[in-house]
Amino acid sequence: MKDKSRHVINLPRRIILGDGAVDELGSSIRETGAKKAIVLMSKTPLKMLGDRVRKILSGNGFPFKIVLVGSGDSFSEAKRIEKLLSLRRGRDKAVIVSVGGGRVIDAGKIVAWRSGLEFISVPTVPSHDGIASPLASAPRGKRRYSFYTVMPSVIIGDVSTLAAAPDRYFSSGVGDLVAKYTAVRDWRLSHSLRGEYYGEYAASLAESIADRIMKCADIIASDKFEGASILIEALIHSGVLIGIAGSSRPCSGSEHLFSHALDLVAGYPALHGEQVGIGTIMMSKLHDCDWERVRETLLAVKAPVAAKDINVSEKKIIEALTIAHTIRPERYTILGDKGLTRKAAEELARSTMVI
Ligand SMILES: [Zn+2]
Repeated sequence: MKDKSRHVINLPRRIILGDGAVDELGSSIRETGAKKAIVLMSKTPLKMLGDRVRKILSGNGFPFKIVLVGSGDSFSEAKRIEKLLSLRRGRDKAVIVSVGGGRVIDAGKIVAWRSGLEFISVPTVPSHDGIASPLASAPRGKRRYSFYTVMPSVIIGDVSTLAAAPDRYFSSGVGDLVAKYTAVRDWRLSHSLRGEYYGEYAASLAESIADRIMKCADIIASDKFEGASILIEALIHSGVLIGIAGSSRPCSGSEHLFSHALDLVAGYPALHGEQVGIGTIMMSKLHDCDWERVRETLLAVKAPVAAKDINVSEKKIIEALTIAHTIRPERYTILGDKGLTRKAAEELARSTMVI
């Protein structure tokens, strides 16, 4: 029988942050004790970093193979790669390395999880906290699902690479981080009303991450190098918190439910963090806390704050708000069991200037 009082925390063994951090990739791989490295990269990171990664790994005399991740979703790409390399659970002493954005990192986590291998995450864009968390997301039908895979053993945040990412990924990263402001409040609510497991340590860390991002918005907007450094540190801490809490609770609440609902009604209209940021403005108002501060943070980094900024109709925003509580019924939030009425949803979106 599973012992409910036992709480297991899986953490990364090493987090390397800074200018040129990718140079540590060779020694990080060697430390895993693996016999070879399988490096997953998509087109753009391959163009940007392919030669450098090849040089680092050949310099270490370590057998490696670079595999191009195609345009499919993370789960189908993971399955294609497993087949391509004939990976079998328990047979290969390899380490999986993903160098890229969210989809490449998710594909790597899924391959590592299914094949029982260690995983190294090398994000190239600071767009959301999945780059450092044990959760992967993949579509099934019209919906996207998040599921537990493996915690990355090593996370390498090379600030000079991340600073070169397009501005939009920065504002998305900020959106996914201000979300902790409402996620923690939803978690507390569920703990008080439903007796759900709650970890004060993880919750207060998540809160301080949101607070730091709100304080640093101007720096993130004006200095890409310093901004990338602040963002990647916060995103990694946030991903690790999911490992500490054993669930995405400290990082994902009603604002994420709104974003998933919007994916459903409007077909993935914008980047994850952009949608979540808009959700955080509205859910902060529902929680009766400082939604204007959230909005100002997003405006400072030129993140979208309104339906028109992400080319979504007012009707779809209202529809998403009314169905958000059905996305994960087991996840109790400020949206309650019955969700918002159409009238309440419209009032909320109007009063926060989302529509
Ligand atoms: Zn998120």
